[in-house]
Amino acid sequence: MQRRILIAGGAGFLGSHLVDRLLRRHDVEKIVILDNLWTGTRGNLAHIDDKRAAFVEGSAESFATDERFDEILHLASPASPPWYMRDPIRVIQANVHGALNLRNLLKPGGRFCFTSTSEVYGDPLISPQPESYRGSVDCTGPRSSYDESKRCTESLLFECNRVYGMDIRIVRLFNVYGPRTRIDDGRAVSNFIGQALTSGVLTVYGDGRQSRSWGYVDDIADALERFFWRDHIDYIGPLNIGNDREIAVVDVAEYITKLVPGTRIEYLPPVPQDPTNRCPDLTLARKVLPGWSASIPYETGVRETLEWFKHIVRTSEAVPLA
Ligand code: UDP
Repeated sequence: MQRRILIAGGAGFLGSHLVDRLLRRHDVEKIVILDNLWTGTRGNLAHIDDKRAAFVEGSAESFATDERFDEILHLASPASPPWYMRDPIRVIQANVHGALNLRNLLKPGGRFCFTSTSEVYGDPLISPQPESYRGSVDCTGPRSSYDESKRCTESLLFECNRVYGMDIRIVRLFNVYGPRTRIDDGRAVSNFIGQALTSGVLTVYGDGRQSRSWGYVDDIADALERFFWRDHIDYIGPLNIGNDREIAVVDVAEYITKLVPGTRIEYLPPVPQDPTNRCPDLTLARKVLPGWSASIPYETGVRETLEWFKHIVRTSEAVPLA
């Protein structure tokens, strides 16, 4: 079947990698890339030369068209804590109102795919976190606009499935890094690399012993394509997607200081309510997506990202977060 796709957030870091993958497919008739360029950039799409792709500048929560789609992929939300904390109400609108609005643009029988987050687990009390873990989230805390709007959108889509039989797919993404992250994004890997290439001082918050599981963007986009595209599937989500090799933040920073000589780490006060650990249980992902694994080693992914950032630093006026 030839599919007409709408990808909201398609000019973003992860969204643009997914667009690239979908344009390699022969069963894609058209992709409308919707993005309000809040964190996404036109530059992420500049390399695309394919008549099937059309960019529309607009927001998920207000986009209107007479066109209807076989598949809607909703990735339209900042994922970096400094960015979503800067405009938390807009984050809630993007996720929840975005899903409420975009679902009206589905063809009957169409599929709605949503990128949720490991943040639904909050500061987890068990490790690794399986999808059945209900989380430890502060619903009024500084991260709540992101955590709770993702949780609410999961709930909304499950109700659309239960009440209207809407076909849905929901993934929970753990930390993703790689080329096309903004230099002023503020998330750890990109921030450390940007800092290494500019000021030479890598800012670690707290003692750096808090851990994350760092997934390289190619592996993650691969999983999204597989899960969002499978027609005959008896599992609609939520599905953990990420890399299950857990590494402390300070170890990431140290690795980057070794790659870029003359750089050093500076310790800053801890971020309030920064989760102490995060690691996906991928048992279900391996079952639902046979053949998929997060195969790119962290060391390779970081070096690839470093090479990409060297080019960006030469051509950009933006600076990493201090
Ligand atoms: N972090 C840090 N320095 C930075 C950016 C992030 O020490 O310049 C830490 C942050 O406090 C957190 C971890 O790195 O413990 C991952 O942060 P990120 O923003 O990448 O993702 P998230 O907190 O959403 O997992």
